[in-house]
Amino acid sequence: MTLSPQTAADGFTSRYGRTPDGLWQGSGRVNLIGEHTDYNDGFVLPFAIDRSTVVAVGARDDRTVRISSDFADAAETAALDDLAAEALAPGTLSGWSAYPFGVIWALGRFGADLSAVSGVDAHVASDVPTGAGLSSSAALMCAVATALNDEWQLGFDAPTLARIGQLAENKAVGAPTGIMDESASLLGRRDAAVFLDCRSLDSEIIDLGFEQAGLQLLVINTRVDHEHATGGYAERRASCEKGARELGVSSLRDLDVGDLPRAERELDDVTFRRVRHILTENERVLDTVRTLRTEGPRAIGSLLDASHVSMRDDFEISVPELDLAVATAQRSGALGARMTGGGFGGAAIALVDAARIDAVSDAVTRAFADAGFREPELFTVRAADGAGRVR
Ligand code: ADP
Ligand code: MG
Repeated sequence: MTLSPQTAADGFTSRYGRTPDGLWQGSGRVNLIGEHTDYNDGFVLPFAIDRSTVVAVGARDDRTVRISSDFADAAETAALDDLAAEALAPGTLSGWSAYPFGVIWALGRFGADLSAVSGVDAHVASDVPTGAGLSSSAALMCAVATALNDEWQLGFDAPTLARIGQLAENKAVGAPTGIMDESASLLGRRDAAVFLDCRSLDSEIIDLGFEQAGLQLLVINTRVDHEHATGGYAERRASCEKGARELGVSSLRDLDVGDLPRAERELDDVTFRRVRHILTENERVLDTVRTLRTEGPRAIGSLLDASHVSMRDDFEISVPELDLAVATAQRSGALGARMTGGGFGGAAIALVDAARIDAVSDAVTRAFADAGFREPELFTVRAADGAGRVR
């Protein structure tokens, strides 16, 4: 973790005039490969990163929850009785606090007895950039979920907390996201990725071996803001559902690349290309896991490159800034590169020899300036341990 947890403790003390009971962190994540496959019951391979959101929590003796963030001026307040309702009254949650309050509501939906707990004050500090494809939303929700799971002694395990986070994001925030972000944030391990089967929710920790191989992962945040709750993401999701329906399966997971000729015959061109991205991407995730195990991390570059092409041409979720970031990284010595996250902006990742990080970074910055794009934000991330108590 690069963020000092003390930042959250200090923020708590200055807002609430006392010291917190404890500090918990949720990690941001990078998806190494497997994009838009999660809500198609497919495979993903994300990892938790060394950028995180820390929440400081202190108990109250009433039924009120207050939460504040370094990102916002005022503390937001909710009543536990409102969050215990089976269905949230429309308009109960809005703005950024829909994430943490949504988590509390979702804890209740998973069986936590919210009538038996007392309120809390909480303060959030973070070094996960928002809207950059590094899942600041999951970092926030997983920090809060882990904190309250401990503070209220609820006893949920990490895979269940991931489902709680997803429910909160889907139903309280209204973003139709899959289970990947929360799983990575909660289950991640140092220098390893989380190989997740989004149908069975089985997960396996896969060693990345980046440290030993002298590789680093460069994140190129294009600063083109994406918007999950509306627009393209929901539209892609609908296309995948349409493709599955027309091919007579309940989800695209029931198909593999061997079904592509039939899909091409039976689907319209756009739906076919959406389906082709999902089926080939699932295959690339499996190939990446196999390659990491047999040949090591230097051999996965071409799979990252192929994933980008598929997202650009078949799924059509890239933007010129992401394409330029990827092409420039590839040209200036990255082993592989691709956009990561939901698309329409956000970040690209490049797998780069540590000695070439500066050269690749400079080339990307220059290319953006030449193209007249906004200056990108570049930094390296490590695969790190996921969410948990900090102190
Ligand atoms: P991403 O998860 O890719 O960063 P999202 O749109 O899913 O982007 O989530 C970003 C939103 O999450 C922000 O607009 C804000 O509402 C909320 N958020 C994330 N981190 C924080 C934080 N530290 N403090 C307050 N709100 C946050
Ligand atoms: Mg998010």
